[in-house]
Amino acid sequence: MNKFEQLGLNESLLKAILDLGFENPSEVQEKAIPLLLEKDTDMVALAQTGTGKTAAFGFPLIQKIDADNRNTQALVLSPTRELCLQITNELKNYSKYEKGINVVAVYGGASITEQARDIKRGAQIIVATPGRMQDMINRGLVNIKNIDYCILDEADEMLNMGFYEDIVSILSDTPDQKSTWLFSATMPQEVARIAKQFMSEPVEITVGAKNSGSATVSHEFYLVNARDRYEALKRLADANPDIFSVVFCRTKRDTQAVAEKLIEDGYSAAALHGDLSQAQRDGVMKSFRGRQIQMLVATDVAARGIDVDNITHVVNYQLPDEIETYNHRSGRTGRAGKLGTSIVIVTKSELRKISSIERIIKQKFEEKTIPSGIEICEIQLLHLATKIKDTEVDHEIDNYLPAINNVLEDLSKEELIKKMVSVEFNRFIAYYKKNRDISTQSGERRERSDAEPREFNNNGAVRYFVNIGSRDNFDWMSLKDYLKETLDLGRDDVFKVDVKEGFSFFNTDPEHTDKVMEVLNNVQLEGRRINVEISKNDGGGRRDHNGRSGGGRSSGGPRREGSFAPRREGSGGGFRSDRNSAPREGGFRSDRNSSAPKREGGFRSSAPREGGSDRAPRRSESFGDSPRPRRPRRD
Ligand code: ADP
Ligand code: MG
Repeated sequence: MNKFEQLGLNESLLKAILDLGFENPSEVQEKAIPLLLEKDTDMVALAQTGTGKTAAFGFPLIQKIDADNRNTQALVLSPTRELCLQITNELKNYSKYEKGINVVAVYGGASITEQARDIKRGAQIIVATPGRMQDMINRGLVNIKNIDYCILDEADEMLNMGFYEDIVSILSDTPDQKSTWLFSATMPQEVARIAKQFMSEPVEITVGAKNSGSATVSHEFYLVNARDRYEALKRLADANPDIFSVVFCRTKRDTQAVAEKLIEDGYSAAALHGDLSQAQRDGVMKSFRGRQIQMLVATDVAARGIDVDNITHVVNYQLPDEIETYNHRSGRTGRAGKLGTSIVIVTKSELRKISSIERIIKQKFEEKTIPSGIEICEIQLLHLATKIKDTEVDHEIDNYLPAINNVLEDLSKEELIKKMVSVEFNRFIAYYKKNRDISTQSGERRERSDAEPREFNNNGAVRYFVNIGSRDNFDWMSLKDYLKETLDLGRDDVFKVDVKEGFSFFNTDPEHTDKVMEVLNNVQLEGRRINVEISKNDGGGRRDHNGRSGGGRSSGGPRREGSFAPRREGSGGGFRSDRNSAPREGGFRSDRNSSAPKREGGFRSSAPREGGSDRAPRRSESFGDSPRPRRPRRD
């Protein structure tokens, strides 16, 4: 008898589980499923992220729902729209051999009337974010007065996001005799309070130690000087050619700025934060899932509920304000039994936070040093060699072999290998030759080399002055969107936007200069003529998005001009050089043009490009899955 069968699950679920490829129940499933099937009871289940909690409540729920009755029988509350859709999808998968079960997702940012209509058609299970659910109840679009089951999924995250009042209000709309199942990774006081207030004698299941981090995640920290934070991030990425990571920043601005810098430096990165429209966020998540993005730079709120398997690293670019949040961040990796690493880039003044986190996660951090240039080159070289070895040969190439042989025939195998590798690698080595090591382990600070300017340089970009600014109601993000829209440019074509009161600065690549000058100088903004000029002060003393002076920061880094970089595989990319090295643009930035014919369909083309209505730069009303101020109740 299969292990899931032993838990008491029925035929149709077993069949669906077979399709899902689950071989054995996880611990929380093994504990929760038989209890929930056996009787109607309240339950509190604590288990780390990635331990399979969705199926732990989903399987018994599907089995207990009466498919012949079209009334709403269960409500699942979940913190974010992402998770809400994910759970809905899972429940649909679980119930695919059970005729007549309908699951409807209810979340902000989509039409409420359509969602209401779907429920009216007969949905036994509603999966909802608290904000939108409360809206629906207020408008009388849904009836949960007779439900049998209420599930609070990721309860700690919901409460973290400020949904306490919504949850209390929603629960008070449900009948007393229902069963409530609460699933959570941790048990902070607010969760305990909900359990006490709304549950009667819940059975309690705990998997692993309460509030402890997942054992499949190892924790490392790297001590650096504050000015080297970004350089450290790049080196960590370079030292892990197959990195697939979420990089956490503290603010939306830092998130956007770090992502922009990474993109400029040739990494496949993107930002995820609350100032993006829903459509933009969806696009970013799609690219991330599809692995066209290797480094997703995110705020804590935006990254909540991201459930992407196989994330190799979580990078704490900055530590969170609340150290408890660290647990949520690191839980994005090490999922489904895979191993993951959570990295903290830390400065001396923040070191004591590491010990506080160790106490919370009950795990020790390993102190590591940022790899030196030589180490990184070694790693990259080996990666390249392996890649050459594993490359499949398209036999089209045979036609060209005679000519190629002609050129290369005098070289020995050793010479040939050296040269081939050098083609891809010389510039990389040159970069790291010039750049000092930045590790400051044991507090020692090494001398800074003056060989390289310590500024995020503009790398040939053109900086403009424009006579519109915050007085015209722009902030840097809305101005960036406005410029992209007006100039019909792509997602990352306008960068380093710096908004002052009556004027602003921004950059583009030189290829766009004619267009910028021509189009913008002929545009009117509310009756006023826009005036744009090429700035004399082209970024030398520019401030980054935090308003900090840009001086004393690390340099741009070894852009991936060559094609060795692993992050371009498949449709991945995100490399400026992909575009700039296309033959038609010959001559511009000649150092980049030497690389091999470019893979098409890089990040730029596959990633979301904003179009039409998607581009509202500010958080819109429709952000229903985010915590919001309390609305006055209408009832
Ligand atoms: P949690 O809610 O505890 O964070 P999820 O329910 O999202 O975890 O599950 C994490 C991942 O593990 C998902 O990809 C899911 O498909 C997978 N998973 C769940 N249960 C099993 C199982 N029994 N065997 C294999 N994979 C599983
Ligand atoms: Mg979950």
